[in-house]
Amino acid sequence: MDHLPIFLDVKGKKVLVDGGNTPAARRVERALSAGAHVHVFCPKMSDEFRTLRDHPRVTHHLRAPEPEDFEDCVVAYGASEIEARDKRLYDMAKAAKVLVNVADVTKYCDFITPSIVDRAPLVVAISSGGNAPVIARILRARIEVMLPAAYGRLAAFVGGFRDRVTARLHSTETRRHFWENTIEGQAGDHFLAGDEKKAEARLLEDLEAAATGSETAQTGEVFLVGAGPGDPDLLTFRALHIMQRADVVLFDRLVSDEVMTLVRRDAERVYVGKLPQQHTMVQEDISELMVTLAKEGKRVLRLKGGDPFIFGRGGEELELLAKHNIPFQVIPGITAASGCASYAGIPLTHRDHAQSCVLITAHGRDGVLDLDWDRLVRPDQTVVVYMGLSSVGILSEQFVKRGLDASTPAAVVDNGTRANQSVVTGDLGNIAARVAESGIKGPALIIIGSVVSLRDELKWFADSEKGSHQMTLHAQDGL
Ligand code: SAH
Repeated sequence: MDHLPIFLDVKGKKVLVDGGNTPAARRVERALSAGAHVHVFCPKMSDEFRTLRDHPRVTHHLRAPEPEDFEDCVVAYGASEIEARDKRLYDMAKAAKVLVNVADVTKYCDFITPSIVDRAPLVVAISSGGNAPVIARILRARIEVMLPAAYGRLAAFVGGFRDRVTARLHSTETRRHFWENTIEGQAGDHFLAGDEKKAEARLLEDLEAAATGSETAQTGEVFLVGAGPGDPDLLTFRALHIMQRADVVLFDRLVSDEVMTLVRRDAERVYVGKLPQQHTMVQEDISELMVTLAKEGKRVLRLKGGDPFIFGRGGEELELLAKHNIPFQVIPGITAASGCASYAGIPLTHRDHAQSCVLITAHGRDGVLDLDWDRLVRPDQTVVVYMGLSSVGILSEQFVKRGLDASTPAAVVDNGTRANQSVVTGDLGNIAARVAESGIKGPALIIIGSVVSLRDELKWFADSEKGSHQMTLHAQDGL
């Protein structure tokens, strides 16, 4: 992040605004709504000040600000739109160690003013770090639509019970669970439906239950969640929702960093990843750990790349939970085959090319591939191979040996759906050599079948340098 996001308490404090036009008016308005005493410096206030000029917390000075005006001031806004005056304001503010922001002049800004969605006491602030205020504004408009006006009132409502809840529930975790259950549960529903009495009754009932019930004995829950192939926009709403409520997250190598940034910041993170041939934590240990954490009352998020039930050992991980009667939920994710195919412009089925698609794994062990070749070697079928990068050589060789034409198109999608996605294309005869040449390291998915040829026309996602290099090679080869 380029900036530290904070919400500053300016209640009863002095804020200086230099200027009398629209930008100044906006700043005066915002400072007033946060409870500040605003000193406005300008010879004449524009029409925009109509509703502001007589406000009891506004003091109007006809002159320009002087050094002594910065005494006891917490924030100064420059909005005079006169360069020399803005510069002088900045210098005076700096000398007085007052936080300063000059509208539209980045070099004279200690901080930037975010776009906000105001549902006071609930406030959403959005910043693009000064890079693209328009994006921040578009986002703001979307959030405006998403957040019912009653949300602000709901925040104020639950705020009224904070002290009581803190006094009754001693652990932070129990309190957080209580609040989540209240806000997202029946009490919140009643409130948003306009029945404050019922909401209050329910909240107090829940509080009593949480306080008297043996807090620590409550069993947690495990959420086995598919994180998709990498692009965080491919997460499901449900996955995101759970990610933001987890107490502890167990994740592995395939979960992208971008996805991890969406996990609740305070959640404990446990890396249980496995690099090929390097077992950091064996499967049984992962399951044991989930049982232990859930028994401690934690909300356990088991985040897996792609879909947990497709070559993800999701089933195995759940068996132990079931044995221990730990409640769990499974949230599907976009599997690599689906994500990579889409982002590479390769439809997995197509009326003219493939009527079926099989997903297989080729964990090459001792150079032997134990596959049901009769089922795989079919002309009107797409074969997608997971975990096959290291065996792409013997795999393509075997496909040809067992009957597929060496000219059958094949692609290897590396880091599919991510910013560093690269795609190597060719045919069964040359794909292994091209992969070796490209230096890709995986995770990578192999797609075999004539659908791969559609990529030339359907490619839409801009691959990283490595990928476009391959495209050039591809073109030069006249394929
Ligand atoms: N459950 C996962 C698959 C786990 S097996 C899913 O549904 O996608 C791991 C294999 O998935 C990797 O070896 C690779 O073949 C494939 N894979 C996962 N993410 C990928 C990505 N972003 N790009 C290419 N292949 C990927």
